[in-house]
Amino acid sequence: MKDNRRYIRAIVPLRLEWEPLYRLPDGATAEIGTRIRVKVSGKDYDAVVSELDPELDAPESKIREIEGFSPSLPAIFPSEIRLWREVARYYLCSVGEVFKAAYPSEKVREEEALARKKERLRTRLSALRDKLEKARTEATRERYSGQIRQTEEALRGLDAGAVTDRPIDLSPAQELALADIRKGFREGKTVLLDGVTGSGKTELYMKLARETVASGKSVLYLVPEIALSRQLEERVAGFFPGVLVFHSGETASRRRDTAAAIREQEKYIVLGTRSSIFLPHRNLGLVIVDEEHDTSYKQDSPAPRYNGRDTAIMLAGALGARVLLGSATPSLESIYNVRTGRYAGAVLPQRYWGGGGTPTMIIDTIAERRKGGMDGHISRKLYLEMEKTLAGGGQIVLLRARRSWAPAVQCTSCGKPARCPSCGVPLSLHKDRGEETLRCHHCGYHESWSGICNLCGGELIPIGAGSQRIEDEVRALFPSARVGRLDADVPTKEGEQTVKAFASGDLDILVGTQMVSKGFDFAGVSLVAVLQADSVLAIPDFRSDEKGLQLLEQFKGRTGRRGKPGLFIIQTAQADHPVITGGRAVENLLAERRLFGYPPFTREVDIAVHDTDPGRLQKLAAALSEDIAAIGQGLKAVGPYQPSEWLVHGETVLLVRAMLPKDRNLVSSKDSIAARVRSFEKQFRYWGHITLNVDPL
Ligand code: ADP
Ligand code: ZN
Repeated sequence: MKDNRRYIRAIVPLRLEWEPLYRLPDGATAEIGTRIRVKVSGKDYDAVVSELDPELDAPESKIREIEGFSPSLPAIFPSEIRLWREVARYYLCSVGEVFKAAYPSEKVREEEALARKKERLRTRLSALRDKLEKARTEATRERYSGQIRQTEEALRGLDAGAVTDRPIDLSPAQELALADIRKGFREGKTVLLDGVTGSGKTELYMKLARETVASGKSVLYLVPEIALSRQLEERVAGFFPGVLVFHSGETASRRRDTAAAIREQEKYIVLGTRSSIFLPHRNLGLVIVDEEHDTSYKQDSPAPRYNGRDTAIMLAGALGARVLLGSATPSLESIYNVRTGRYAGAVLPQRYWGGGGTPTMIIDTIAERRKGGMDGHISRKLYLEMEKTLAGGGQIVLLRARRSWAPAVQCTSCGKPARCPSCGVPLSLHKDRGEETLRCHHCGYHESWSGICNLCGGELIPIGAGSQRIEDEVRALFPSARVGRLDADVPTKEGEQTVKAFASGDLDILVGTQMVSKGFDFAGVSLVAVLQADSVLAIPDFRSDEKGLQLLEQFKGRTGRRGKPGLFIIQTAQADHPVITGGRAVENLLAERRLFGYPPFTREVDIAVHDTDPGRLQKLAAALSEDIAAIGQGLKAVGPYQPSEWLVHGETVLLVRAMLPKDRNLVSSKDSIAARVRSFEKQFRYWGHITLNVDPL
């Protein structure tokens, strides 16, 4: 007899290839998205109902009952589950892994914090109104009226869709770009806005965002890094006082508030990093992906190894929202998509405040050294330009792409660099507040600096200069200048103060890593210089020229803002490198990618194999590489080869890189890779040793 017990499938936050079957308790019902508790291999998990009355592919006696419901957890929207499935399919990972990324455990304990806050404010408001009525003197009446105004304002601030009526008058160039954007949207396409730094992209975003909110829909505004969202927050708040901010750097309670606010509000604008894609969006009208080329959009580890830009496009597709990508240095992928007609394009070729291009000066450090023109790591020529700038009251930004005092230390006896015992990468010397340590930039390992080689007992000496050492040299060269530094070693709060001080003119020189090349808008900067530009170009990867070009162009954009003239200096040992001389235009890069069958003309999937036993690793990675190559359909496999970070958490890593033609076999080839990896894991009992990375950067 068929009883009336109900079965469901659930998504569990694990790397499970399937969605397990469960039985509901007698009489209980559930919907897709209902939160339940289940046991898997003896452990409890918060899971989500993903299918009702599924086909039973297991004997009923083997199907477990759920452990219970989680009524305090908000239900998941079916559209969220659809997005997770799409992300899992594209990035060759499990739906459970995407669920786990979307709802990390801290977020699972979500409460309706926002609702409670609003309730408190409303109670306070009515109490104040009572008091106002009973007040006798003019002075107390005034006091209560003031408090009422404040409380009302606080309540309005909680309305994430509130807008100010600040006017946005577009320039003719912006009007043209806007018309192109609208045309693209009408055609149902993602639009790429290619606009030089300072051309007014952000202003256009605000215009479109306001229209979206006015039409009753919400806006997701993505930026690649927390630092950028902090800086933008104020600017966006000038248009949207209730703007929600969401990223991993927020406190857990603020994150909960944001998720709760999004669930509750009809419309909102949220500014955030890639993880805000997985907020419970519903009524989304516009997604803005600022600095779309930025590699920080890509999550490297753990799975899902997703790119925020491309996942945002999936999200928008699922919810019928429009997507605007923006950059001064668009990725080759997006440029290619515009050329093939998949995306529409819009351009802002000039700066809003006018001013011609910034002149570039190239300083060849090899030639300078020969002439005795190098003083430490700063050339005499650069020194003179810096002096001139300071004398004219201008500000300077120096970029050195490596943090630390010295990027490496080397033994004078055995010649070997000190290496991280768990990753194998060279250790860097750091000097923080009188403390000297050797640090691994990959895993965070550190030891105090003894100056003695662990291998032979010889003397270790610092090699090269990182941003800390440059800061020291600048201070020594310009003793009366006010100098600040910004890199990942500077604590967040201190870094924020440095940025503020520099912006308000309380600092003359800012030294920093890539962090200073992105987004910052400092009106007083008239000289920007990149030191040892070689390090940006030295990466042995087909993407390094593209990345180098983007970095130089972005950094150059930091000067000559607000129409004032500026100067861009590149100090390098490879003065004739085509990226530096400008002989490496997007055209050449695309032609080369096509010729060699690299993305965006193909799709790349990296297969990483890691193992503590190097012998077994070599054998199995080679076998797997053959398996992958045998897929055929035009797929090309390279490797196994050793990546630059070849020792991770004590395990050796080998990579197999697969390039798949973008033809009608693409999806099936990708699925074949995942299927072969799964059967390989089974055949050799090799679970957990292989990871897949689709579209690595
Ligand atoms: P981007 O985002 O392309 O770097 P911004 O939007 O930051 O450019 O614009 C650069 C500068 O020009 C900013 O100071 C901005 O306030 C100003 N600006 C841009 N568009 C307008 C506009 N339509 N009206 C007034 N100021 C504008
Ligand atoms: Zn390490």
